[in-house]
Amino acid sequence: LVSMTDVNKHFGELHVLQDINLHVTKGEVVVVIGPSGSGKSTLCRTINRLETIDSGTITLDGKPLPAEGKELAALRSDVGMVFQAFNLFAHKSILDNVMLGPVKVRKLKKKDARDLAMGLLERVGVANQAEKMPAQLSGGQQQRVAIARALAMRPKVMLFDEPTSALDPEMINEVLDVMVSLAHDGMTMIVVTHEMGFARKAADRVVFMSDGQIVEEETPEAFFTTPKSDRAKDFLGKIL
Ligand code: ATP
Ligand code: MG
Repeated sequence: LVSMTDVNKHFGELHVLQDINLHVTKGEVVVVIGPSGSGKSTLCRTINRLETIDSGTITLDGKPLPAEGKELAALRSDVGMVFQAFNLFAHKSILDNVMLGPVKVRKLKKKDARDLAMGLLERVGVANQAEKMPAQLSGGQQQRVAIARALAMRPKVMLFDEPTSALDPEMINEVLDVMVSLAHDGMTMIVVTHEMGFARKAADRVVFMSDGQIVEEETPEAFFTTPKSDRAKDFLGKIL
């Protein structure tokens, strides 16, 4: 579904993505882990073209990513993204936050968008907060709304970039539980996270990045118990 082939990207002198080859099939859940600055966020951002690449190809559903215009807008709907910061529209209600994309971009009727949004808010467990403003919700609740908002666009793939790292510990699991359930429902997901519990429960594959390279690709079991490279051993030694 998502294919990155020989992808390279520089920020000036910094070779932030080096010959990246990553192929994610439909329904697969890939967890990306690695040290700070290794290029995990940049990799995610290239997939919905928040960042351009210098060489190589990225395809979604077999088609190269569009560069601009309507096709680019469609790509952004097809590739849902959830960031560390919740990024909700602060001056709109929870319900409006989730309805807005379907109405503006997918051209759904208000009534249909509302039904869709309420269904998704139900699914992530915050339907009873629909009329509130984002600031009235906890961080965990806001992040679940952010997931519902991305899902409202009916994405083909969901990208998560450290979705729980800004949350208080007691809220982390409520967000991870939603992500695990999405994974079990067959959503294709690329998840940057250091949450080993999530990786073990939901990931088909763990991709370990270091210094702009994919150093290891393993099942979670194999990666966490018997990492091969020194870089992975060193990293796991620090976080486990
Ligand atoms: P973290 O775990 O801290 O989130 P990361 O693996 O997500 O790290 P990236 O955010 O992808 O790492 O950054 C990789 C490298 O690229 C870092 O050295 C960062 O400073 C640099 N970088 C990221 N974005 C830019 C930018 N827009 N301009 C210049 N350099 C950048
Ligand atoms: Mg990052």
